Amino acid sequence: MDHFIYRDGILHAEDVAIPEIAARVGTPFYLYSTATLARHYRLFDEALAGLDHLVCYSVKACSNQAILRILAELGAGMDVVSGGEYRRARAAGVPGGRIVFSGVGKTREEMRLALDGGIRQFNVESEPELRALSEVAVAAGATAPVTLRVNPDVDAGTHEKIATGRREDKFGVPIDRAREIYAEAASLPGLAVVGVDVHIGSQLTDLAPFEAAFAKVADLTRALRADGHAIDRLDLGGGLGIPYSRSNEVPPLPADYGAMIGRLLGDLGCEIEIEPGRLIAGNAGVLVASTIYVKEGEGRSFLILDAAMNDLIRPAMYGAWHDIVPVPEAAPGAEPRVFDVVGPVCETGDTFARGRPLPPMGEGDLVAFRSAGAYGAVMASEYNTRPLIPEVLVDGDQFAVIRPRPTFDEIINRDTLPPWM
Ligand SMILES: *Cc1c(COP(=O)(O)O)cnc(C)c1O
Repeated sequence: MDHFIYRDGILHAEDVAIPEIAARVGTPFYLYSTATLARHYRLFDEALAGLDHLVCYSVKACSNQAILRILAELGAGMDVVSGGEYRRARAAGVPGGRIVFSGVGKTREEMRLALDGGIRQFNVESEPELRALSEVAVAAGATAPVTLRVNPDVDAGTHEKIATGRREDKFGVPIDRAREIYAEAASLPGLAVVGVDVHIGSQLTDLAPFEAAFAKVADLTRALRADGHAIDRLDLGGGLGIPYSRSNEVPPLPADYGAMIGRLLGDLGCEIEIEPGRLIAGNAGVLVASTIYVKEGEGRSFLILDAAMNDLIRPAMYGAWHDIVPVPEAAPGAEPRVFDVVGPVCETGDTFARGRPLPPMGEGDLVAFRSAGAYGAVMASEYNTRPLIPEVLVDGDQFAVIRPRPTFDEIINRDTLPPWM
């Protein structure tokens, strides 16, 4: 459920009419709903209410400071995958003790940053990383809390590019070798083993792969305890999917996911961490664009928008579907038309959707891409020297720009000429 709804025939974000924001900010822009973000965070928090737990929002899904601040104030922890994200989480007021650090390629500088600033745990993904972290911690005179991210060899049944828990994926250590690597971790100076971590992929629309992975984690936890390790925390990653199409997808509910976690892992007495990103931010954001032209091609009509693949890359990158809706609702009885919805970028890949039924559209008409809050703004680029589009936040009847559109001078002046020119 989200808070983007039609009122009097106009799409609103909470209590604000979207055309009002478009008139003030100019299109295209990302638009987020505070109430939706808070609701989604609470769904997870409540789903784990029977267990000692921390919901660590995955910062990479949508990392604007205002978004992080909303979640931090609700009590969320954060999952970061770079030194930059660590800095963002701290800048938003998240204490180091509520930040977990994931990722296959943490540099020594990033490790040092987190050790100095405070960190809940490093989710370590390889033996070389374990040794590097040990050295950095010893040099810093610190003890690094670690979990090992295990690769359970489970197929998440999701898009090829975002499946992370199969044997051939780059993530984690093979679960079959985990006991050996935990033994090494326990023997290295500067490290304190605190738990086990797993994350098998993103946009999972079925609980079965989670169950398969978590059952393996439960077995491993018992084995590691028998080996003498203190396993007090289980980080179960993120990955719960969202409905991108209102017509046919029904992903599992956080409540069912939470109940499944309780059933499989509750008796271990561990603190449970989860790292949801997409489910918190995805349906809390839309991308608003306006029509530049309607172009009649050979047997097809192109709706050419002022948003493009550089603003929202998911359709080009993953073949992803986004519902595209008119901002003023279709007039009753209006005959729908079928459009290829495209942007202005000079690539055929810059196609958001083919053969989409929409009401008749004309120049200047607004559309909204639903479910664009996660992996939208964060993956945007300035390809074709198209400025990064603004982000706007709504809370009730108020709205504010939370990242302004850069000027062309700002963009061009980021480049510097070499001294010989
Ligand atoms: C991307 C990622 C997440 C978040 O995944 P979602 O599908 O957005 O919930 C969580 N943990 C790790 C380690 C990730 O890489």
